[in-house]
Amino acid sequence: MPSAETPLARKRRARKIHRVLAEAYPYAVPELDFENPFQLLVATVLSAQTTDVRVNATTPALFARYPDARALAEAAPPELQELVRPTGFFRAKADNLIALSRRIVDEYDGEVPRTIEDLVTLPGVGRKTANVVLGNAFGTPGITVDTHFGRLARRFGWTDEQDPVKIEHEVGALFEPRDWTMLSHRVVFHGRRVCHARKPACGACPVATLCPSYGEGETDPAKAAKLLKYELAPHRSELLELMRQGRTRRELRELGHGLDA
Ligand code: SF4
Repeated sequence: MPSAETPLARKRRARKIHRVLAEAYPYAVPELDFENPFQLLVATVLSAQTTDVRVNATTPALFARYPDARALAEAAPPELQELVRPTGFFRAKADNLIALSRRIVDEYDGEVPRTIEDLVTLPGVGRKTANVVLGNAFGTPGITVDTHFGRLARRFGWTDEQDPVKIEHEVGALFEPRDWTMLSHRVVFHGRRVCHARKPACGACPVATLCPSYGEGETDPAKAAKLLKYELAPHRSELLELMRQGRTRRELRELGHGLDA
C-alpha cells in the first residue's frame, strides 16, 4: 500500500474507489442464479474451481430434480454426480451437497442457517461461501474474498495480506458494513472485466487515478480497451446496453447474449 498514506487517507481513497466502481457497474449483481437461500448455497458450493456461467448452466436441471434440502438429502450419489459433473470435482461436490443437506434437515429443520458460525460447520462451506449466502440471500452484510477480491484489494493498496480472513477484516474496516455485500460484487466485477490477474487494462480503467498499481498492466488506452471482457469488450455494446436496462442473466441468455464470451 502507498507508504506515505495515512489510515484516514486510505479509507477516503478506498471509499472513492468504491463510488467510482458503483457508477461503472450500476448493474452489478451476484453472478450465480438462485431463487432461495438453499439454491444459492448449493450454487456457491458448486462454483468452487469453475465459472459461474458453468454453474448457472448446471443448476436448473439440478433444482428441478432436487428442489430443497430434504430432496437433496435423499439423493442417490451416482445420479447427483452425473448432474453436477460439468462443474468439476463432481464426486466431492456431490458428497458435500448430500452431507450438507442432511445436516440442514437434521439440525436446522430443513432451513439454511442464518449465521456464519452455523454455516461454516456445514460440509464444503467455508467463510467465502457463508458470506455469499449471508449477504445475498439473507441481507446480512458480508465481504466475499475470492481470488479476484484478494488481488484487487492488494492492487488498490487496501491490504498487503494474502490470507482471505485477514483481507476480509482489513478491508471491512475501511467501509461501512452496509456496503460490504455490494462492494464485494463490484470489486469482483472489476476484476473479471478490467483488472485481470495477468493483463490488467490500466489504460481503460475507471479507477486508474486512484490506484497505486496503475501501470502494472497495459496503459495505452487503445490497447487496454482490447483487453476488456464481457459487456465492456470491443463489439459488445449491445450487451452493455441490455445490462444497463437491468435485464436478468436469464433474459440475456435467451436473447443470445450470454456472459460466457
Ligand atoms: S489501474 Fe490497473 S491495476 Fe489499478 S485497478 Fe485499474 S486495471 Fe487494476
